[in-house]
Amino acid sequence: MRLHRGLCVFEQWLHEQLDVRERAGLTRTCTPVHQYADGTADVSGRRCIFFASNRYLGHFSQTQTVWTGGAGASRVAGGTHVLLHAFEEEWAHFVGTEACVVFGSGYGANVGVLQALAQRDTVVVGDKYNHASIVDGAVLSRARYVRYAHCDIEDARRVLAMHAGKRIILVTDAVFGMDGTIAPIKALAALARDVGAIFVVDEAHSGGVIGPSGRGLVAAELCPVDVRIGTFSKAYDSYGAYVAGSSALCRYVAQTARSFVYSTALPPALMTQTMLHTREAAGADDRRARVLGHARTMRNALAQAGYDVGGEDGTAIVRIVIGDARKTVELARAAYERGVFALAVRPPTVPEGSSRLRLSCTAAHTDAHVHTACAALRDAGVALGLCR
Ligand code: PMP
Repeated sequence: MRLHRGLCVFEQWLHEQLDVRERAGLTRTCTPVHQYADGTADVSGRRCIFFASNRYLGHFSQTQTVWTGGAGASRVAGGTHVLLHAFEEEWAHFVGTEACVVFGSGYGANVGVLQALAQRDTVVVGDKYNHASIVDGAVLSRARYVRYAHCDIEDARRVLAMHAGKRIILVTDAVFGMDGTIAPIKALAALARDVGAIFVVDEAHSGGVIGPSGRGLVAAELCPVDVRIGTFSKAYDSYGAYVAGSSALCRYVAQTARSFVYSTALPPALMTQTMLHTREAAGADDRRARVLGHARTMRNALAQAGYDVGGEDGTAIVRIVIGDARKTVELARAAYERGVFALAVRPPTVPEGSSRLRLSCTAAHTDAHVHTACAALRDAGVALGLCR
C-alpha cells in the first residue's frame, strides 16, 4: 500500500481505494469525446471511428433545427462530451474546490455519493429531514442510517457520541426544501471534525440563492466540508448536478458511484444551458435580493394573518403548517380558486400531522404577485376557519 503522508484520514482512505483499483487495472476514465453524425468522433484529440455510442439509430439531432442530441453513453463509456470537462473545471473554480464531477441529477448524485462512500460498517448520521435521495443512498450502501432531530446540534452531538470510534459520515441538506430552514453547518462541521466524521452538505436549495455570487451556504459560512453536492435543476433553471471536493474524492466518486458509472451522461445541449445559466446566476445579485425580499414579505404578511408560518430569512421558501392533510388540500384548493397555486405537502414527504402549504418564491414574481397571493391566502384561510 502506497503511503500518502500528510493527508487526513478521509483523504488517505480515498487514495488507498484509488490505488487498489489502479493496481487491479480497474481505473475508469472519463475520456473527452466530441462525436460527429458520421459515426466518427474526436477522442482525446484523435479522430476515431467511434464504437462506444448507444445511439443505435444514429444522430437525430442532425435532422433538427436546434441541437437536441443526447450523450450516447455513460460518462465512463464514451459519453463524456468535451464540454463536461470544461464545465467541471469552471465550476470547481467557482465553488472553490480542487475538482468537481457532474452527475445526471441531484437524486443520482446523492444516491451515488452515499453508496460510494459508505460501507457496511459505516454509520451515516443525518438530519431527520434530509432529502429522500440521501436516505436512499445510505440504504443502497447497506450502512446504518441514524437520524438526529432537525437542525438540533445537541442531538447531533449525542448521536455522534453514541458511534464514536466508528467510520461516520455526517450529512445534511444546507437548506431544507420543505421547511425553508437553514442547517447549522458551522457547528456541524466542528462536530464532524471532533469525531473524525466525513462531512457532506447538499446545496440543492441554497445554490444560486445564498452566499457570495450564489455560491451556496458552505461558501457563505466558510466552513470545512469534505463533500459538497448541488443540483442545477432549481435556482439554475437547468438539469444535472455536481459533487465537489478534493480531486481524490472526485476521482473516487467517478469510479464507484453506480448512478454515475451506469447511467447515460447529460446531453451536451443541457450542459451548454447549465453553463450559460450558472454564469448568469453568478452575477444576479439583484435577483437574489428580489426573491429573498419576496419570501420575507410573504412570511410577515401570512404570519400577521394568523398562519403558522415557517421558512428562515435568507431562503426562498415559505411554509404554512396546517397539520391535517385534508385541511391542507382544502387550503390549496381554495387558494387555487383565488388564482394562487401552491403545493400541499403531506406525509410521507413530511412527518404525520405536519402537512403544509409550500410556497417557493422566485425573482420572476412581482411585488403585486406577492401581495395578491398573500391577500388570497388570507381570504382562503378565513373562509376555511384557518386564520383570522
Ligand atoms: N437534494 C435535495 C435537498 C432536493 O431537494 C432535491 C430535489 N427535490 C434533490 C437533492 C434532487 O435533485 P434533482 O431534482 O436534481 O434530482
